[in-house]
Amino acid sequence: MGADRQSETSEAVEERAPDDVFGLLGSEARVDILRALGSRPDDEFSFSELFDAVAIDDSGNFNYHLEKLRGVFVRKTDGYGLTHAGKSVVGAMYAGTYTANAAIEPISADWDCLLCGGEMLIHYEDERVRFRCEDCEEGASFPFPPGNLDEFDRDELPRAFARWYHQSFRKLFNGFCGVCSGRVERELLHPPESIEEGRGPSEVAFECTRCGSFGVITGGSLVTMHPIVEGFLAEHGFDVSARHPSQIWAELDDHEAFYDGHEQPAFGVRFAVDDEQVVATVTADGFVEDVRREPRAD
Ligand SMILES: [Zn+2]
Ligand SMILES: [Zn+2]
Repeated sequence: MGADRQSETSEAVEERAPDDVFGLLGSEARVDILRALGSRPDDEFSFSELFDAVAIDDSGNFNYHLEKLRGVFVRKTDGYGLTHAGKSVVGAMYAGTYTANAAIEPISADWDCLLCGGEMLIHYEDERVRFRCEDCEEGASFPFPPGNLDEFDRDELPRAFARWYHQSFRKLFNGFCGVCSGRVERELLHPPESIEEGRGPSEVAFECTRCGSFGVITGGSLVTMHPIVEGFLAEHGFDVSARHPSQIWAELDDHEAFYDGHEQPAFGVRFAVDDEQVVATVTADGFVEDVRREPRAD
């Protein structure tokens, strides 16, 4: 049964070699065509509309390049539009813009370090956002597209970074690679015993089965992606998509990670506000299960 489904999938997907596909982009005219289609990515262009939008005078030459893109980056139905891969290429052009100048002066995160109480600052360097404690230098980092930096005023950036973090890890939480949208596998990195050994928080690692892209998130942050936990926090006035999760824990009445009594090594996470708490298990294979809201225990 499994083997049958496998072969059906293989037949349905026509694979082309990456150098074949990317070789198609080695032409200014073709990049112009994609950029023009990307100016209205969900619309179709007629042939003459598209021809007018691109700086090529000779319609035979234009048609030659358009035909090269067809089937890979451009689809033709009634008119011309971008395929999923075509939209990704246009997205990558925007995301990578201004790479050379992408740096900012550190921004105050208005947030004290959970470990030492030091001041957390937000840095941006090497295409990554870093929330970093000025004293103990611990913190979190994650990629953010450099082309997005000047879409926001400086005072909007902390929230934009947090929202980006949230949507990137939610994609992983839901099982898709942030780079290629392939399927991801996951596992709990630190065994629960690490709490007793003082090794710090649990971590769940995600790896894409297709492109090999890799990401790590603490169990406590992962749990905040679960709809029941997100709802619990929202009802108590905390928007998990607007701030880094550990910034929110710092403001709860109580938060802890603990050894979970499941048969498999598992991590428990508990957040408490007022007279209510939410408890969740991070399983050995990195999933969030057994999430429940209940009266506060302590
Ligand atoms: Zn610190
Ligand atoms: Zn991938």
